[in-house]
Amino acid sequence: MRNLTSFYIDGQWVEPMSSATLPVLNPATEAQIGTVAMGNSEDVDRAVASAKAAFAAFASTSRQERLDLLHRLKVATERRLEDLAQAMRMEMGAPITMARSAQADAAIGHLQGFIAALEGLEQRKVLANGDILLREPIGVCGLITPWNWPMNQIALKVIPALATGSTCVLKPSEHTPISAMIYAEIIDEAGYPPGVFNLVNGDGPTVGAAMSRHPDIQMMSFTGSTRAGIAVTRDSAETVKRVTLELGGKSPNLVFADCDLEARVAASVRECMFNTGQSCDAPTRLLVERACYDDALLIAKRTADAITVGDPEQAGDHIGPLFDKIQYDRVQAMIEVGLAEGVRLLAGGLGKPEGITTGWFAKPTIFADVSNDMRVAQEEIFGPVLVIIPFNDEADAIEIANDTPYGLAAYVQTGNPDRALRVAAGLRAGAIHINGGGFNYGSPFGGYKQSGNGREGGLMGLEDYLETKTLHGIG
Ligand code: NAD
Repeated sequence: MRNLTSFYIDGQWVEPMSSATLPVLNPATEAQIGTVAMGNSEDVDRAVASAKAAFAAFASTSRQERLDLLHRLKVATERRLEDLAQAMRMEMGAPITMARSAQADAAIGHLQGFIAALEGLEQRKVLANGDILLREPIGVCGLITPWNWPMNQIALKVIPALATGSTCVLKPSEHTPISAMIYAEIIDEAGYPPGVFNLVNGDGPTVGAAMSRHPDIQMMSFTGSTRAGIAVTRDSAETVKRVTLELGGKSPNLVFADCDLEARVAASVRECMFNTGQSCDAPTRLLVERACYDDALLIAKRTADAITVGDPEQAGDHIGPLFDKIQYDRVQAMIEVGLAEGVRLLAGGLGKPEGITTGWFAKPTIFADVSNDMRVAQEEIFGPVLVIIPFNDEADAIEIANDTPYGLAAYVQTGNPDRALRVAAGLRAGAIHINGGGFNYGSPFGGYKQSGNGREGGLMGLEDYLETKTLHGIG
């Protein structure tokens, strides 16, 4: 069992002030794989003091010095990629093939995006009126991340802090501490000065809230549920921190009859089920033009029935379990809600897949004939559950797509490029994926409406960590 009972503060592994602990469980086997120390506000004070003490020297490093450190970070990350992949396979059930190619790969992909952005970052600019603008690191950053894409979220927050010359305290999800602890070892190996990066494990209401309220933290970057994002915002208000939020989603996927129906519907179903449906930007509402509705249902059912659910240790493109019992129970409860709301069950349904008794595995499930005002169409289910909603025409599709409190991503399937651009312009979401166009590292990621307010990744991701200073009278 891995030792997860220390925190990384001021360049050292230290004993926590708190004596609280939490078991870490493998969702595929339900076995305990570790015990994580759960910090308290004194642990946060200690980590923040270390980050504050390190700030002045780190903020005055040159861009080249920080680029050199990022290149060392890349070498150290590459060396530990397999460890990161195996950690996420164990702690959140990511099947090993995707744990390697997507979950762990994000640590390198985002790093490359940030290196390119830092190389091009304009940190000094003369305005037309002669004043000079300086972009400076914001200070001590508090970083809070979820369990569903553990390394992806950590990379999107820790790397821009390190790249801009800020210092930080990371509180990863208490449920996925193993990958985060490995990442702390990677940062240590890269040779960052003590105090620049600190890690404290713990729960949201204790450690997360202590960070949000801390007077010496200048910025909170939060990824997780909308509920917790609101709590972080409230707790940060007293000290007027900058707060950036990456929250939930219920992303629409608009399928027009003029698309390559077989290919696009099949890919859409697989994309919804990817990571067992536990992605904030998963295309979970499939809106289908009535002209191709019946054909689309046949393709969707065939695709869902062909998705296999299985052991994360095995290589392959199967999906793994949900990440814990609470998540499994939530997904089952939402499937019951859908059935009670009178939807047509097209694939999957309640219970575990046939032959599986251990682990939090759920069936890839599709609901058809859904109306957008149903709970299953409005609430984030965060499991392998797709709802299919018919629409009449383009205007109807855009209206249904935007009828959600969220606005993280949207997807459009059409053979008509003019329509793709027209529809994209009407959609209120931070990313529009057209005909399977995937996310590229270095592009901004973030949402409209209640999906958040910041943009992570690349240049915009760096800008969140910068303050602006104007020099008058020197030009
Ligand atoms: P969660 O909100 O329960 O937890 C996320 C993090 O917030 C954890 O570290 C948790 O300890 C902490 N936290 C909880 N309550 C807190 C509080 N009161 N104050 C401070 N911190 C608190 O979310 P989760 O279940 O870990 O993750 C799933 C959610 O994350 C989903 O809603 C998903 O859509 C969202 N998510 C969004 C993005 C994005 O980029 N938009 C990416 C991944 C996940």
